[in-house]
Amino acid sequence: MPVHGTCRTICGLCHANCGLLVTVGPHGIERIEGDPDHPASRGYICGKAHAGKEIVESPQRLTMPLRRTPRGLEPIGWDDALDFAAGRLAAIRDRYGPESLVRNAGAPVSYEARDGFLYFMRVFGSPNFTGSSNCCWLPRATAFNATMGGKPEPDFENARLILFWGSNPLATERYGNYCGYERFHRIISRAKARGARLIAIDPVRSETAARCDEWIRIEPGSDVALGLAMINVIIAENLHDRDFVDRYTSGFLALAEHVRTATPDWAACITGLAADQIVDLARRFATNGPATICDGNGFDMYCSVVDAVRTVAILLGLTGNVDVPGSVVFLPFAKQSVLSAPPKTAKIRQSEFPIFRDVPFPGIKEALLHDEPYRPRAMIVHHSNPVLIQANQRRTVEAFRKLEFLVVDDVFMTATAEIADLVLPATSPMERYGYRAYSSFDRGFVALSRPVVGPPGEARDVFTMEYELAARMGLEADYPFVDSRSWVEHMLKPTGVTLARLEHEQIVAVTPPPRYRKYKETGFQTPSGKLEFYSEQFAKAGYDPLPIYREPTNGGASPVVPAPAGFPLRCTSRRPAVFVHTKFRNLAGMIASYPEPLLWIEPSDAARRGLREGDMVELSSPRGRVTIRTRFDISLRPGLVMMDFGWGNPTDGLASANELTSDEFWNPISGSTPQRLFACEVVKMT
Ligand code: SF4
Repeated sequence: MPVHGTCRTICGLCHANCGLLVTVGPHGIERIEGDPDHPASRGYICGKAHAGKEIVESPQRLTMPLRRTPRGLEPIGWDDALDFAAGRLAAIRDRYGPESLVRNAGAPVSYEARDGFLYFMRVFGSPNFTGSSNCCWLPRATAFNATMGGKPEPDFENARLILFWGSNPLATERYGNYCGYERFHRIISRAKARGARLIAIDPVRSETAARCDEWIRIEPGSDVALGLAMINVIIAENLHDRDFVDRYTSGFLALAEHVRTATPDWAACITGLAADQIVDLARRFATNGPATICDGNGFDMYCSVVDAVRTVAILLGLTGNVDVPGSVVFLPFAKQSVLSAPPKTAKIRQSEFPIFRDVPFPGIKEALLHDEPYRPRAMIVHHSNPVLIQANQRRTVEAFRKLEFLVVDDVFMTATAEIADLVLPATSPMERYGYRAYSSFDRGFVALSRPVVGPPGEARDVFTMEYELAARMGLEADYPFVDSRSWVEHMLKPTGVTLARLEHEQIVAVTPPPRYRKYKETGFQTPSGKLEFYSEQFAKAGYDPLPIYREPTNGGASPVVPAPAGFPLRCTSRRPAVFVHTKFRNLAGMIASYPEPLLWIEPSDAARRGLREGDMVELSSPRGRVTIRTRFDISLRPGLVMMDFGWGNPTDGLASANELTSDEFWNPISGSTPQRLFACEVVKMT
């Protein structure tokens, strides 16, 4: 139970999960500081961590369950809320079968976000998991898995050349996928001091690009062309690692033939780069090793994501920059309990998305809108806000209106909760137990998140909600937990670390130190056991086994495809680093530094439209229009504007980027839609 004094915990607001020291007094949280003994964050916390107190104390918190009535959402007690949910879900299961329930989860910034309602789906019997996984990380992981059987982490400390490709870790604090790194500016400073070359490939001058030695200003969505041309140069000039390629890879000859026409001249007009620049980058990547690539979310929200990241993985393999010091490395990781089970029935659109772990959100959306192959009837939205996250907001709402029961658990009212039948008030990270497993270049370790204050009103942790719901439906037999505390105990069992020990020690190492070149003993976790340039898995599933460049198909938003009439500009989007996804734009401490979304525009594009910096404009696309304030950015390519993403909740009421984006096309493997690229026009508000 929470006590007064200072306790060690971890921040649950973003994926980095930095260590915290939280001091609590008689009137609540008094101080939030970084934990200097946390092996990854080493005392660092960002400005968002201080919002933990404001989140706990905000008068906007959801504190009671809300049920939809003809008068709107109205407060009810927990017993009524859970009875209502259990009754609706049981009726839907009896009438349509258990597959008619979908779990929609958001980014796993905490393991509570990752795991809530997973086991419930298992006992309910539905295979249908969806969420924001089509928008972040899983498409990249799918590409790496196909190529080298896992998603390795960049070894920044030993690299001589570091490519930040579609990633901005200085701002996002996301340095790897599971790896805990020290504060990133120190890593960059050390890399520069030892003479490593840092290069950012990004359409916009990100915070990381600004600190790098070079910024390669690529056209948005053209990464596949750059990757293929780099592969072309490396093979044509015989710069690949012949020994590694001969012994540990497959498909080299097919790859060489495949990229023969992907010349730097061909890629130059697609990427907006000079052919010489592409040649030079390829040569340096192949000859200045060890080299690593830090890929990021900049790849994800394009239809091309999986092929683009396949070229990244292939470049690493071609040059032997895999599992050696200074490359990308498979790190040891804590074994944890598994809550989900292999589904007994095929997921929705299994034949369309046979490889992707989840049903990509467009698959669920189209099933809802067209009853194809069948219509989901109920959805549990856990720690997620699909109305704002997914492309084409209007159609997402239209699809959700087809559900017979929509339940949302969250901390604040969201654009998705606003249309739900039932809203359940969730605890924030400071109000419940949790944990996190980290890989690192030292050891894999686990750390505890603990309740430092009680929840406001009747907010509950998701595992309590989940168990109580299961119990009402007679599904509680053998449930492995009843609340967040027992969930932590259950999840840590395979590590041998008890909760009591973790409460005492806070951080416990659970793996041996990492080893390099493991492929020499075990091969790669691919069908052939080799690093596969030609993906057997993709070929078997009916996908292109080698990465292919395709023109963007979302309304001509490309330098080589004519723009649709009336929309001569291209728009990309980004999340300002002071926020996490769509959250916290209702907190005074957060919006003080960034009060509203902005449209970043190059001054000559603004001048042609008679705009001054700060003007309010109408930004329109073939899908819709929003009102937004302009800000100049001289580093943008003329013709390209950039919109801040993540606003549009009822608690902020400002412009949402997904009013403008298209869900007409998606990546055939991951269902990724082009939120980062759409045709648009900007007109001054009169
Ligand atoms: S928000 Fe993220 S980066 Fe900031 S302190 Fe929390 S975990 Fe660390």
